[in-house]
Amino acid sequence: MKRRELLAAAGLMLSGAARAAGHAAEPQVFQAVVIGSGLAGLTAAASALESGAQRVLVLEKGPLIGGHSLYSSGSLAAVSPKRQGPQGIRDSVESLVADSERVGGRIDAALVRTIGERSEAALDWLEACGVVLGPKVFQSIGGMRPRCVAAPGPTAGRAYVLAVNRRVRRLGGRVLLRHRANGLSRQGGLWLVDAEGPGGTITVRTEAVIIATGGFTANIPLLRHYDVRIPPTVTTTANPRRLFFDGADGDGILLAEKAGAALRNMSMIQLLPYWGGRLLDYAGGELYVNSHGRRFVDETAPWSEIAEAILGLPGQRMWVITDARSHKGASLGIKLTDGTVRKSASVREMAEGMGIDPTVLISTLTDYNIAARSGFDAVTGKRVFTQTIDMPPYYWGEEKLYAHMTLGGIHTDACARVLGRDGMPVPGLYAAGETAGGIFGIDRLGGLSMMSCLVFGRLAGNCAVHKI
Ligand SMILES: Cc1cc2nc3c(=O)[nH]c(=O)nc-3n(C[C@H](O)[C@H](O)[C@H](O)COP(=O)(O)OP(=O)(O)OC[C@H]3O[C@@H](n4cnc5c(N)ncnc54)[C@H](O)[C@@H]3O)c2cc1C
Repeated sequence: MKRRELLAAAGLMLSGAARAAGHAAEPQVFQAVVIGSGLAGLTAAASALESGAQRVLVLEKGPLIGGHSLYSSGSLAAVSPKRQGPQGIRDSVESLVADSERVGGRIDAALVRTIGERSEAALDWLEACGVVLGPKVFQSIGGMRPRCVAAPGPTAGRAYVLAVNRRVRRLGGRVLLRHRANGLSRQGGLWLVDAEGPGGTITVRTEAVIIATGGFTANIPLLRHYDVRIPPTVTTTANPRRLFFDGADGDGILLAEKAGAALRNMSMIQLLPYWGGRLLDYAGGELYVNSHGRRFVDETAPWSEIAEAILGLPGQRMWVITDARSHKGASLGIKLTDGTVRKSASVREMAEGMGIDPTVLISTLTDYNIAARSGFDAVTGKRVFTQTIDMPPYYWGEEKLYAHMTLGGIHTDACARVLGRDGMPVPGLYAAGETAGGIFGIDRLGGLSMMSCLVFGRLAGNCAVHKI
């Protein structure tokens, strides 16, 4: 089929020159157009289809689906009595809200409560999509208590994206790659979405638009506009070496703003150490030292506290140390191969490799291990220890900050409706996932972003179809 026939079959119309040349097909009206194919977008599309819609289109500007969700570690925070209970973990939606306040300060408590209340059902739904979640509930870093589950292995985010994408396809949804939504306007009670693709611009007519374009961590000018301390060389945790396409440039947030949406908390940017010496995805098995070999922060503190502490170090760099006993992530092999992480048989050898006075590092580790045995470190207030760090070989490497997630974006309500600058819902406009801002305050609990994608993705799809 030629491109024009393909588009017509998909119910899309050409705009601009092609339309002027008389090639326009009579377009169908979609019930929902989702912009972005990360976990939030695909979940929203699946949910719209499950809610009875038959004409659902996902526009994705990249060459492949998945966005940052594809690279996510996939920890999913949930209040799930049936998963936490058998492991003796007591939790509640109120605790989730309180913990979120503790790490994020001024949060949108109603929206965090919505996430908590719907989190167990969201996990059940993900499993029904074909994802196999590991049985163990764990405390993720920055998680405050054990409430995370994940698909086993290093590619959990990918497993979720692929499973939900299969569901979208099975239910008859369409995904159009390499089409960047760049215009949003309202006409006759419908939305018109312009999207630029390899063959020109198309325009799609739809009853509802769901914006799920992720955050703006890859947009350095925008990041630095909100926090000038962020170095111009910063890269995202999804694409640390800028080797592939990264669509996290805030497109959807700016589109929504032009369409009348209110934005909030745009300066709240989550920076964290990730691709250097850090090897663990859980709290309690590693320690951080400065260039003098001294600890300077509780390694299990909220990321915002850790990031502030690292921003205050000379060169904004630190060393991360663990030992043979910890459970290292999948990045270990590559980090050892490319020299990001090194192994040493003794603390002295490690200190020499770091260019640090060995007596200082020996004393730091001795004090740390005394604290780990007692379960409390009076210097930093650390209370989460899974081990002492004294079993050679030691694994260590330099670490710096990466742009992990943006916490600001489109103001939404508990139905994922986009709110205008007057505080009222913009008709037919929804947003879910990282693009929705102001939910978590200055920082979020580990595992809560992916859960927010699931919960608000499902709500957006459902509310869009039922015109709530
Ligand atoms: C390495 C890493 C590990 C992480 N680990 C965790 C974790 O364990 N737990 C957790 O909760 N969170 C984690 N996060 C954060 C979490 O993964 C993200 O916040 C989440 O995946 C965002 O999903 P999303 O669907 O909102 O956006 P994305 O997955 O980024 O998808 C957005 C999509 O929209 C597309 N798009 C953007 N603009 C347009 C446009 N104009 N037109 C068409 N398409 C567009 C993009 O190309 C992209 O494909 C991690 C993030 C990273 C990078």
